Amino acid sequence: MKTLTILGSTGSIGAQALDIIARHPDRFSVFALTAHNNVEKLYEQCVQFRPHYAVMIDEAAAQMLSKKIKANNLTTDVLLGEQALVQVASDDTPDIVLAAIVGSAGLDSTMAAVRAGKRVLLANKESLVMAGALMVSARQESGAEILPVDSEHNAIFQCLPSDFVPCQDTPKGVDAVVLTASGGPFRQTPIEALASVTPQQAISHPNWSMGNKISVDSATMMNKGLEVIEAHWLYGLPAEQIEVVIHPQSIIHSMVRMRDGSVLAQMAQHDMRVPIAHVLAWPERITSGVNSLDFTTLGPLEFEKPAVERYPCFALAYDALGEGGTAMTILNAANEVAVAAFLAGRLRFNQISILVSEVLNQIAAVSADSLEVVIYADREARELAALNMQAMLGIH
Ligand code: NAD
Ligand code: MG
Repeated sequence: MKTLTILGSTGSIGAQALDIIARHPDRFSVFALTAHNNVEKLYEQCVQFRPHYAVMIDEAAAQMLSKKIKANNLTTDVLLGEQALVQVASDDTPDIVLAAIVGSAGLDSTMAAVRAGKRVLLANKESLVMAGALMVSARQESGAEILPVDSEHNAIFQCLPSDFVPCQDTPKGVDAVVLTASGGPFRQTPIEALASVTPQQAISHPNWSMGNKISVDSATMMNKGLEVIEAHWLYGLPAEQIEVVIHPQSIIHSMVRMRDGSVLAQMAQHDMRVPIAHVLAWPERITSGVNSLDFTTLGPLEFEKPAVERYPCFALAYDALGEGGTAMTILNAANEVAVAAFLAGRLRFNQISILVSEVLNQIAAVSADSLEVVIYADREARELAALNMQAMLGIH
């Protein structure tokens, strides 16, 4: 029996993990669930999974949840705030922590789980992008396991030898890893039309149903850029050994080029329960609720090169990786601000890359050797992004 904390349980990844856990009551029990402010969903999850703790970030939401829990005689303790996330991520009881908060809000709790030596199922790629070097060394010290939930990195993990340790080893006999990308909803939209696409169009992903932020990142391909950086830290590979190919059908989730000319690929339906189930049970295999592939009805699998003019955010991520240190923190922070502004209808889709690029040009990256340095760079980049945005929008 393994005990779990799920950080971000009301999100797309968190809910899909609980869907798998519900299928295996003999294997998993839930210690803590956390959410930003979704009272209804967290309450339903408490009724079904009976955690010891439920954490809310929003104070009014925490009070409402607490009332509902007491009124219905549940024993779950409701905790409030970011410090409580760290507490349930690093408590002695859970064996496994699923880091599924979106964005930099997940950094502290993910780091806490790594420092506490947990098996960390990493969905929150932004924390690794922001503070990769620190997370790698924290893992080394604590002996934590960092297992990738992100479908591409999970696919690579599945293709590597079974004794490979992410964030520690460099894969042997490997020439390169090949991340696949769907290309997002605007793969064939005329480039001139990208200035007027709406948030609603951007979050309508052709293959995957995901949270809003990652959906926009998929449309700009910043997501693939963040994933190149994520692969760098997980697999110890330089940018030259991390390739990206557009594969619109999202059936091959990524590949590994072996030195002898073999290419290993992992294939599955595009359903995140496959990689989540893999890391939940690793090295065993459990059912995920997802059917296997039927090759007779699959249709053709296509591959194409990503066009830089269509996806400028993607190139910015490679630049930030090349620059190193806090450049990746700055890239991530500016992108979070830009995506939030786009979703709020304040910024045009094609202004996301302009804003990120300006912020990257305005701040000199330094070596990311402490969490304080990373948090300072994150804050500085957000402030500068807000200022640049005001200038772009003509607000003084
Ligand atoms: P989501 O928006 O659906 O869910 C986010 C979760 O984080 C929610 O539970 C929310 O309550 C919580 N949250 C949001 N803001 C918070 C804050 N300030 N403090 C504390 N908690 C907060 O996001 P998602 O699509 O599930 O993505 C989660 C992470 O997984 C992201 O880092 C994303 O890049 C990664 N990921 C997602 C998918 C996918 O298919 N959805 C695939 C690969 C990787
Ligand atoms: Mg991915």
